[in-house]
Amino acid sequence: MKTLLLALALCTAAAGAAAGAETVPGEHARRTLEIYRHIVEVDTSKTTGNTPRVARYLADLFLEAGFPAEDVRVVPKDSFASLIVTYRGDGSAGKKPILFLGHMDVVEAYAKDWERPPFELTRDETNFYARGTIDNKFGVAQLTSTFLRLREEGFVPDRDLILAFSGDEESGMVTTRMMAYEMPELVEAEFALNSDAGGGDLSADGRAISYNVQAAEKTYATWEVTVRNPGGHSSRPRDDNAIYELASAVKAIEAHRFPVRWTEMTLAYFQKVGEKLGGELGDAMLRFAYDPGDAEAAERLRREPSYVGTTRTTCVVTMLDAGHAENALPQSATATVNCRIFPGISVAEIEAELKAAVANPDAEFRLLGEPTESPISEMRADVLAAVSKAVHSRYPGLDMVTYMESGGTDGMHFRNAGVPTWGVSGIFMNPDEMYAHGLNERVPVKAFYDALDHWSIIIRELTGP
Ligand SMILES: [Zn+2]
Repeated sequence: MKTLLLALALCTAAAGAAAGAETVPGEHARRTLEIYRHIVEVDTSKTTGNTPRVARYLADLFLEAGFPAEDVRVVPKDSFASLIVTYRGDGSAGKKPILFLGHMDVVEAYAKDWERPPFELTRDETNFYARGTIDNKFGVAQLTSTFLRLREEGFVPDRDLILAFSGDEESGMVTTRMMAYEMPELVEAEFALNSDAGGGDLSADGRAISYNVQAAEKTYATWEVTVRNPGGHSSRPRDDNAIYELASAVKAIEAHRFPVRWTEMTLAYFQKVGEKLGGELGDAMLRFAYDPGDAEAAERLRREPSYVGTTRTTCVVTMLDAGHAENALPQSATATVNCRIFPGISVAEIEAELKAAVANPDAEFRLLGEPTESPISEMRADVLAAVSKAVHSRYPGLDMVTYMESGGTDGMHFRNAGVPTWGVSGIFMNPDEMYAHGLNERVPVKAFYDALDHWSIIIRELTGP
């Protein structure tokens, strides 16, 4: 039955192509929306165990479109799954494959907190609403329909293209690690393009400000700092006290200034943003871009939450846990310290720096989880040219800016595994309207339709005749 329907759809597309170019994008738009709706309406947050369902639904679409079964793989891992689809090229370029990344899972959303049902695709004049509309089912739907469309159009790339969708990017990234560290056929890719990062910024009145390529991510690392004490009865206080000692450690971390860091990429970023922004803050950016040793400019940027992370490592105390009874001396006190580490600086270096700042040999540091250090992916001219072509087809002459994200996406594991990765989503929206992970997540309807050709332009430019 499905095959029959597909044959019909193919006929319609072919007829459309004969009748005139306009009806073909119509079909592509219709199908992209259908995929988008289907996957948005499956709750794939981490406890549901639903990513395998989405992976199989998408896999069926590729199989129906004629992708050979051995090139469409749903790979289970724990209660999640990855989807890996290979689009065979003719090999004429003699080059390694290109990876296309996205993730099928979403952050939890509770209907009682939302104004609209989080797992039903609804819309008004301006936006589509639902959990995952932007993060990252937008990218998954657009990449999937692009692969289907290119195949139907008979496009043969000059090398293999590989879709790699993870199933738990928002939680443990076990599917990401599996792909990046256990599948050599993926890691041999020449580079990866990630649909889960990057994109264009629009002003409140809809003007395009810049297109941003994510080329690096800071390392995410969290420590628990604990001070212990024998404790005792609170009527018999003693001079050493776990809470007082921890408080001193917390104040030391607050006062600590991590050294200013920069790369060619961050300086170029501040130059472009500074020129656009103007004013006193824009001026500080330009001064920093021309001379990162300008301490006054660096200090000005430090005070700006949106920009401090691009100038240095940051660490902040996010949680406290201390004492066990109102009338007892505390036996332990723990502070949670979350850091975003500048690329190129090791987790061990930051731990040593924090220990030196705290200067209390009795304070125990415990690193949580396994932080992933990832290098910067320096922009390549051919990739930038291909992405620029897609962006400029919509917004001629728009500034292309590369940036470092405060973390973290699947990209960090692929970068860590040696695959340069750039975040180049087709989305254009006002950053103030960005509700990824938050309530009432949305995507402008216009942005959805305007992005329909984004990936096919990039793919044809990089791998076409
Ligand atoms: Zn995401």
